[in-house]
Amino acid sequence: AKAAGDAERVTPMMAQYIEIKTANPGSLLFYRMGDFYELFFDDAEVASRTLGIVLTKRGKHQGEDIPMCGVPVERAEEYLNKLIAAGHRVAVCEQIEDPAEAKKRGPKSVVKRDVIRLVTPGTLTEDALLDARRENVLAAVARVRGGDGEDGYVYALAFADISTGSFRVAETDALRLAADLARIEPAELLVADAIYDEPAFRPLWRALPAVTPLPKESFDGSTAERRIAGFFQVATLDSFGTFSRAELTAAAGVVAYIERTQLGARPPLSRPQRESSADAMVIDPATRANLEILRTTTGDRAGSLCASVDRTVTSAGARLLARRLAEPLTDAARIAGRLDAVEHLVDETALRAQLRERLAGAPDLARALSRVALGRSGPRDLAAIGRGLTEGAAIAALIAASPAPEELARAAEVLGGVDPTLAAALAAALDDDLPLNRRDGGFTRPGYSDELDATRAMRDESRRVVAALERRYVEETGVRALKIRHNAVLGYYVEVSQQNADRLREPPFDVVFVHRQTMAGAMRFTSTELAELEAKIASAGERALALEQRIFDELAAAVLTHSEAIRACAEALAVIDVTAGLAKLAVDEAHVRPDVHDGLDFLIEGGRHPVVEQALRRDGGPFVANDCELSPPENAKSGRIWLVTGPNMAGKSTFLRQNALIAILAQAGAFVPARAARIGVVDRLFSRVGAADDLARGRSTFMVEMVETAAILNQATERSLVILDEIGRGTATFDGLSIAWASLEHLHEVNRCRGLFATHFHELTALSQRLGRLVNATVKVKEWEGEVIFLHEVVPGAADRSYGIQVAKLAGLPPAVVERARAVLTELESADRAAPAQRILDDLPLFAALNRAPPPEPAAKADPAAEAVKSALNGLDPDEMTPREALDALYRLKAAA
Ligand code: ADP
Repeated sequence: AKAAGDAERVTPMMAQYIEIKTANPGSLLFYRMGDFYELFFDDAEVASRTLGIVLTKRGKHQGEDIPMCGVPVERAEEYLNKLIAAGHRVAVCEQIEDPAEAKKRGPKSVVKRDVIRLVTPGTLTEDALLDARRENVLAAVARVRGGDGEDGYVYALAFADISTGSFRVAETDALRLAADLARIEPAELLVADAIYDEPAFRPLWRALPAVTPLPKESFDGSTAERRIAGFFQVATLDSFGTFSRAELTAAAGVVAYIERTQLGARPPLSRPQRESSADAMVIDPATRANLEILRTTTGDRAGSLCASVDRTVTSAGARLLARRLAEPLTDAARIAGRLDAVEHLVDETALRAQLRERLAGAPDLARALSRVALGRSGPRDLAAIGRGLTEGAAIAALIAASPAPEELARAAEVLGGVDPTLAAALAAALDDDLPLNRRDGGFTRPGYSDELDATRAMRDESRRVVAALERRYVEETGVRALKIRHNAVLGYYVEVSQQNADRLREPPFDVVFVHRQTMAGAMRFTSTELAELEAKIASAGERALALEQRIFDELAAAVLTHSEAIRACAEALAVIDVTAGLAKLAVDEAHVRPDVHDGLDFLIEGGRHPVVEQALRRDGGPFVANDCELSPPENAKSGRIWLVTGPNMAGKSTFLRQNALIAILAQAGAFVPARAARIGVVDRLFSRVGAADDLARGRSTFMVEMVETAAILNQATERSLVILDEIGRGTATFDGLSIAWASLEHLHEVNRCRGLFATHFHELTALSQRLGRLVNATVKVKEWEGEVIFLHEVVPGAADRSYGIQVAKLAGLPPAVVERARAVLTELESADRAAPAQRILDDLPLFAALNRAPPPEPAAKADPAAEAVKSALNGLDPDEMTPREALDALYRLKAAA
């Protein structure tokens, strides 16, 4: 019976633990016990597995051992980092009273504890937990009834980086959501339960690192406005601009979550900035992955477009560059504005160098500011803000010294407009060498506060003060052997020999010595002076620390009154860094200014692949530059599609991708790796690789490829740029050829987009006879003594053959297999390979096929059949036709109408 009773009994500490744990579901609980954060039960098991730390046990609960593991407080960040990276949330529970207080309540009482912070992937602020070069975005998706979306809902995204204070909202729809999330790359996405559970969205959630479902109250449209106003401490949102209900709901979701995780502390978020989806080039997740814009398919930054063009010298600059590459603009005027700024710094070599040197010393203002606002800052954060503002002023002066284009001038104006008193005050208050933690003290510059100086003098110079007092006592008593000593029992005391004791007992002066102790041959006394000194010295350290904490709070408060201005400076510095970095890149890598305009041109002369080019330079070997012209031919209103053939390894994929990357760079406002570039704004960019190159697992790769191809055929517009690499490869030859064939016809006739289509189906080259804007191009190779030599040169025309066997030989296939393959090939080639393609061209009128299966989304375009007839008519030249040909053409037109 006794054992059962024990098992039932819960210790007071365990009771407290369970209460706190229950109040914070979904988080691992870091429960502070002395110098450790302890985890219990399932939390302990999860943590020990994730962190590789020892699982022990402590006591029993309901008759079972309680699993436990712990992490030392001073190494907590490192462990937090690992847990967050593994997708966990952590509730940090601290002791919120002095253990001595708890003891006073009774021997068994437990120290009060409470959760002071929830650490989640989207709400990090510590440098140790963040990647300096990446934003850390917390996003929320909201959905409200209404709108003309297919499913009867309007969607909106709100996304904030609490480590830098950026806060934006944008409307979207169910179809675009994936592309928007891929662009924003949230570290954590908040979703209402109802949406979270919808099967259609599950693949979307799975693609994100952390998704947090929340009850629908977090996304309550009716209280949204009030919640946001409360956060920003304003009465109404009138001055914030206009937002849709969906946008407000999403923004309120973000705000509510920040309040919940930060437990009242308020990060310095900017007012929500409204974005229009039409502002950015639409790039869906598959295209981003395929083009390796921010990271490679293996997830590394190295080898990505971003890494290869990043010449920024600050973390904020690196973050802004990544954002710009992730969302290239579609407004030609804004693009030109950015390009003007880059061009200015390309030309102004000296200014560029000076700016970059200054920037290299500029701290991460935005992240320091956030920590100050959240009460997580240290002296170095305050100093960083002061230094950043000072550097900012110097940078503004450099730019303003000569006329600068608008983007730079605006940044300089922001930097130059900051009140210099804050930076001056910080510089005056903060010492040169600073401790990491404010609690350590010792960060205040001597001379800043008289009171602190005196207190510190007392603390640091206790020996000198004691020595001075000792000298005085010696003088006044005339006892030359008088000594002031210290021990734990008496504290400071005066010691004299027995013989001299009387001189202290009956002093001829006004100090009263109180006898405390008699030792063999010595007498010990204290005095009021000495006792006061004792108390002063003992508390001086503590007082100095308290004074410094007050100074810190005052400085932090001063900083926060300027938070708007500081955030604006941080942004301005980032803009200048990105601009100077892109200018440096352009100079070092011989990039040119692209001409981006509202037409439909796409003309790249001497284009290069920025990543491959730089890699080749390291490994030796020059990169062969290639032209690409997809502009509408004369008398046509739509751009061209190039059908690129050529053997494997010739450089087809490289060529395709380089043109997509050039479009991204140009619209992000960067110079491009080419001799010249003229680009009509691309609204959507699509890039697909055939199944053979696809690393996707789980689903059938062919299925993935077809789903993605369907998306392109449904969405690409005349303004889009479509890159298709080896489509149809993942299935039997004839299936694949047929799909590739039909897709190409659709792109040409219905989407009418600009495109590059690489294929190993040589049969497709015949299509150029019929499709007026389809151009055959091939990557040249040379055959020499049975070996193939890759020239990487893209030229007009079709590849004569695929050289598969030569490439296989290069790859080291056994000679016997190579020989046998040659024999088989000769056999196969004796049949006329061109015949079936010719038959299809003759027998299956393209336009009729299009008519029978109308495209699901004719978009805002005119009737496709009418368009088709029109373009077919344009393609006819009656003067050149025989009567027989004219009759055939008439039949075809009739079938199409
Ligand atoms: P494909 O798609 O035709 O199989 P890739 O585009 O993958 O060929 O190119 C194969 C290799 O050839 C690349 O890894 C690259 O090193 C080299 N290469 C491609 N294009 C060029 C070029 N323009 N100049 C120099 N080397 C190139």
